[in-house]
Amino acid sequence: MERLNIAIDGPSGSGKSTTAKAIAKELDIIYLDTGAMFRALGLKAKLSNVDVNDVEAVVAMLANTTVDVKYVNSKMELYLDGAEVSNEIRENSISKLASDISKIAEVREMLIVTQREIAKNNDVILDGRDIGTVVLKDAKYKYFLTADSDIRASRRVAELKEKGQIVAFDVVLAEIKSRDYNDTNRPIAPLKQAEDAILIDSTSHTLNEVVDIIIKSIRR
Ligand code: C5P
Repeated sequence: MERLNIAIDGPSGSGKSTTAKAIAKELDIIYLDTGAMFRALGLKAKLSNVDVNDVEAVVAMLANTTVDVKYVNSKMELYLDGAEVSNEIRENSISKLASDISKIAEVREMLIVTQREIAKNNDVILDGRDIGTVVLKDAKYKYFLTADSDIRASRRVAELKEKGQIVAFDVVLAEIKSRDYNDTNRPIAPLKQAEDAILIDSTSHTLNEVVDIIIKSIRR
């Protein structure tokens, strides 16, 4: 039976995860946040004092690291070496570590296995940077979500505040721009709109409107 696979890519703060979660709920399918998996490896590097830019050290770390995804009542839980880290990975300092570590080929090769396995066995909506271009090139439904960097930064500030982290707008904006640059310019699986993805700019749309646009295009 062909699985329903929906790919949503885009830069940080474009509303991918909020949108994807709402769509998953509406369609009664699961949601895979692939960024969370890179964050888990960023967290591991931090905990083990491994420099995320030292390829050899990161590759050695991967040999004794597991990243697993579980679903409890359809809610995604992330496990690093058997321990749940769903909250720890949301720490703001982990964002840059995840972006840096994600440049390493071996890191991507490790995580893509689980990502494809989940997509093969489930009806799922995945969000990330390279889902439509690399992970699930053949996905039937692909979307690329963007928004002005100012809007994305204010969304991130609000999101972090909700989690009890107070970070200044200017700091978040600078981090977002640096991560965009990092993610767009890396040689392997850069952030890019797939040719067959539908572009949605959420600058002038609420996230509810974006959800509606996507659901309508799938049902059509
Ligand atoms: O989506 P999120 O901001 O949590 O992702 C953290 C980082 O993980 C991104 O900045 C990006 O560098 C990396 N990532 C990636 N490929 C994906 C998802 C995330 O390289 N599919």
